[in-house]
Amino acid sequence: MGRKLLLTGGGRCNLTNAEPDEKIFLSKYGSADKFLFSAFARFGVKDTLDFFKTHGVETAIEPGQRVFPVTNRSQTILNALVDYLKAGQVKIMTGAIVSGIVGQTGTLEAVKLANGKKVRAKAFALATGGKSHRETGSTGDGFVWLRALGHQVIEPSAALVPVAIREAWVKKLSGVSLDQAKLTILIDSVKQKTKTGKILFTHFGLSGPLVLNLSREIGQWQKEGEVTLSLDILPEYGYDQLNAKLQEIFKQDSNKKLKNSLGLLIPESMVELGLKMAKIEPAVFCHSVTREERQRLVRGLKAWPMTVDRLLGLDDATITSGGVALTEVDFKTMRSKLYSNFYLVGDVLNIDRPSGGFSLQLCWTTGHVAGEACV
Ligand SMILES: Cc1cc2nc3c(=O)[nH]c(=O)nc-3n(C[C@H](O)[C@H](O)[C@H](O)COP(=O)(O)OP(=O)(O)OC[C@H]3O[C@@H](n4cnc5c(N)ncnc54)[C@H](O)[C@@H]3O)c2cc1C
Repeated sequence: MGRKLLLTGGGRCNLTNAEPDEKIFLSKYGSADKFLFSAFARFGVKDTLDFFKTHGVETAIEPGQRVFPVTNRSQTILNALVDYLKAGQVKIMTGAIVSGIVGQTGTLEAVKLANGKKVRAKAFALATGGKSHRETGSTGDGFVWLRALGHQVIEPSAALVPVAIREAWVKKLSGVSLDQAKLTILIDSVKQKTKTGKILFTHFGLSGPLVLNLSREIGQWQKEGEVTLSLDILPEYGYDQLNAKLQEIFKQDSNKKLKNSLGLLIPESMVELGLKMAKIEPAVFCHSVTREERQRLVRGLKAWPMTVDRLLGLDDATITSGGVALTEVDFKTMRSKLYSNFYLVGDVLNIDRPSGGFSLQLCWTTGHVAGEACV
């Protein structure tokens, strides 16, 4: 249970976003904001934080207003939820694969299980998720049932996806993350956009919130030409400032080898590669670095060149774009407008949002509203 939840936030679970301005917060859900207003008024970010605090989960706010449990483990969140279910004596049936939903005009009667059994109930909440990371159980079955029941489903596609990079050196940095990196995106060498945020190097290329949030645009730009990226790993320094900083470090470490000194400024694992790209001998002593070499290093550290190969697919996406049409759901209750005892929550809804805790908050909010309405 909770297999996707355990994956969230790189295993740390970015459970919500503490953006204090309600308007800015709602705007993250794009054109769905008008639908969500009433649902968030019923159960918003504060309610989420209060819920978890009451159930023993302390949280901390990180850059970008991302909220994580202080344990830095998504298991903490799952445990709190499972304990809550147990305390409420909720019957949990794991491994019970649903094969279909039985309904007549306007009312649902039962869900059919793969073992042939039927489970009858007064009300049904569909929380089968989207289609990303199938291995967690989100296979997209819910969309098939929704269509069969007459609901309109916007075809699901991958959203918030990592980016595969052509250059082999990128893979050598797999696992390295940079909290504040500046990424400039170019089409056929023409600059399109620059954004700063957290990135993560992976075995295929780049991931992390900054890249995930840019992935939709990168995908569109790929249709127009070759998309390249220029990565500035020290955006807090301008060129002159970085030059001065390096001068200062080299003076202080004058008898050290350059490769042993640069780690003061950039992640150790990027040192050798950075020097190689700037065509500087790693074993050279700091006192022997020439002005030209230092300037090459400055330019290199502020512009690591990469070529986008492709966006990864549904299996690697954080969320699915698409889902049930919002006009077919009453957001005051999350009830289907076609079936009086059918509730739709979480990733099955056609709502786009960026990375940053907005997805799980959508799940907590819609889940709570549906839960209150269906009892
Ligand atoms: C790698 C990754 C990292 C993420 N990180 C974050 C993050 O840090 N913060 C954030 O806000 N969001 C994050 N998300 C998004 C977030 O995980 C989802 O928005 C959220 O899990 C959706 O919840 P859900 O309940 O709608 O669906 P899911 O979590 O997908 O759950 C669907 C459930 O339905 C079950 N199911 C499906 N079909 C059937 C069937 N036929 N029979 C029985 N059961 C079935 C599945 O087994 C599963 O248990 C991340 C997603 C991924 C993939």
